[in-house]
Amino acid sequence: SGKIHRLEVENFKSYRGHQVIGPFHDFTAIIGPNGAAKSNLMDAISFVLGVRTAHLRGSQLKDLIYAADDSEREGKGRKAFVRMVYRMGDGTELEFTRSITAAGGSEYRVDGRVVGWDEYKSRLKGLGILVSARNFLVFQGDVESIASKNPKELTALLEQISGSEELKRDYEQLEAD
Ligand code: ATP
Ligand code: MG
Repeated sequence: SGKIHRLEVENFKSYRGHQVIGPFHDFTAIIGPNGAAKSNLMDAISFVLGVRTAHLRGSQLKDLIYAADDSEREGKGRKAFVRMVYRMGDGTELEFTRSITAAGGSEYRVDGRVVGWDEYKSRLKGLGILVSARNFLVFQGDVESIASKNPKELTALLEQISGSEELKRDYEQLEAD
């Protein structure tokens, strides 16, 4: 088993230049005043885990790049990345990097090698990180929305988080046979 050891962020949201966040422990709490970048850190983790941009606050990739002001925000050719350094039980590290390229798209790397989204996702899955479920991360506003779900909606959410949703069709097929 392993864990996220640290994040390296470059020009992502309020993180200007190259910054290392961590190391993280078995349990890590992020504290700070309003606007300190707590949510931006959660966004960085979601981003590097491949969460679709629409699920992040800030609807376009380019909005996720650090900008000191409006004129910088309009500037072209800006780049950003988030790298997650994952440390395995035996101490070996694996690096996952998602970048926003100068052309404004996403680029994925595993240990520095450019890979397609499918390979990136399956390498994460190999570590037991389920990319299809975004709800194992609790975002601002999620607590209220979870608290107001009915039992049926809660069951659906748990099925999504646990991954049993993926087996649903097989299960129903077997039951029907
Ligand atoms: P709260 O306690 O209010 O939830 P927080 O610690 O979660 O605060 P964040 O939402 O993570 O705070 O950070 C907000 C800050 O990040 C704001 O000051 C915002 O201007 C800044 N920010 C967001 N996107 C960018 C960007 N692209 N470039 C520069 N700064 C940015
Ligand atoms: Mg916040």
